Amino acid sequence: MTSPDYRLNSLSPVTRHSSPLKIAVYWTGSCGGCDVSFLELGPALLEVLSKVEIVFWPALADAKRKDLENLPPRSIDVTLVNGVIRTTENEEMVEILREKSRFLGAYGSCAHLGGVPALANQTNGVVEFVFGPGYRPSPPPGGEAEDAPPSLLPQALPLEEVVPVDFVVPGCPPPAPLIAQFFERAISGEIEPGQVFAKDKALCEECPRIREERKLTRIVRPHEVQPDPEKCLLDQGIICLGPVTRGGCEAACPKAGMPCTGCLGPTPKAGDPALAMISALASLVRAGEEGEAAFPEEDRILDGLVDPIGTLYKYAFAKYGLSLKKLARRREEVRA
Ligand code: SF4
Ligand code: SF4
Ligand code: SF4
Repeated sequence: MTSPDYRLNSLSPVTRHSSPLKIAVYWTGSCGGCDVSFLELGPALLEVLSKVEIVFWPALADAKRKDLENLPPRSIDVTLVNGVIRTTENEEMVEILREKSRFLGAYGSCAHLGGVPALANQTNGVVEFVFGPGYRPSPPPGGEAEDAPPSLLPQALPLEEVVPVDFVVPGCPPPAPLIAQFFERAISGEIEPGQVFAKDKALCEECPRIREERKLTRIVRPHEVQPDPEKCLLDQGIICLGPVTRGGCEAACPKAGMPCTGCLGPTPKAGDPALAMISALASLVRAGEEGEAAFPEEDRILDGLVDPIGTLYKYAFAKYGLSLKKLARRREEVRA
């Protein structure tokens, strides 16, 4: 692993919060990657740790719900929540954290947009889908009713669907430059309400690959080809979400030969990432023929887009998938 060198340039005297900054980090439906991501700061993490007081971080140090409940309201300066809201316990914990925190942010794609776990929203009732009809979580043998696992919510939700969110540090997990930016602003007391720690401009603008916007005559999956190392992946038929995704990761995936899957979330201009990407593809896919004669060949090219929902909504299905469902319903109404 290369040694990261992220410097925190603006650790100015604290003005708008307690000193040291009191922080909490909590995971809901999370893979744990977001908690580990702070290590990406490298030596700068030591600088951060010297400026903060960790008051609640169950992934790092043993802490119980009661410890959190005993804190006075708004006594935590900044809380970072990672993971999707999937269970009744997740819901209750973030409501308590909201009450105890002055600023509360979504950290990572799952908290921001629902993330990969929210692809389960494609089916109604994931528990029944996996365990069969009528299944209910039960306590372990000999346990009390309260020992039963928490119930799953009907849908996996982004954090903002449950509590007001003050800011977002996006990514799966957030990349080191954005984590560094977040700590700079938090420690100097300069988080703006509604702030998203990523660029408003599209990832393509920071990608070094050469984009010619060639017409697509085929769509391929990354493992099916050896892409040209200099040229845009989308031009080579690999679905790369760079045109609709926020910049800020220094185009980490395209630089490594892999397409962007959209983890920093869509740009404000793009909105729904799948609809924006479909619109982009519609202008790129071209058969030899013109007009209606081209439709069958264009359909064949678009059939190369395997798993459209998992590809175009990989992180954002919980937040934007509804518009897809509305479109499907509208199409059925028009056909009827
Ligand atoms: S955003 Fe990615 S790294 Fe973070 S919890 Fe979700 S899946 Fe894991
Ligand atoms: S490889 Fe992806 S991010 Fe880079 S220019 Fe092409 S579409 Fe944009
Ligand atoms: S290239 Fe795309 S998927 Fe990869 S880290 Fe950047 S925003 Fe996330």
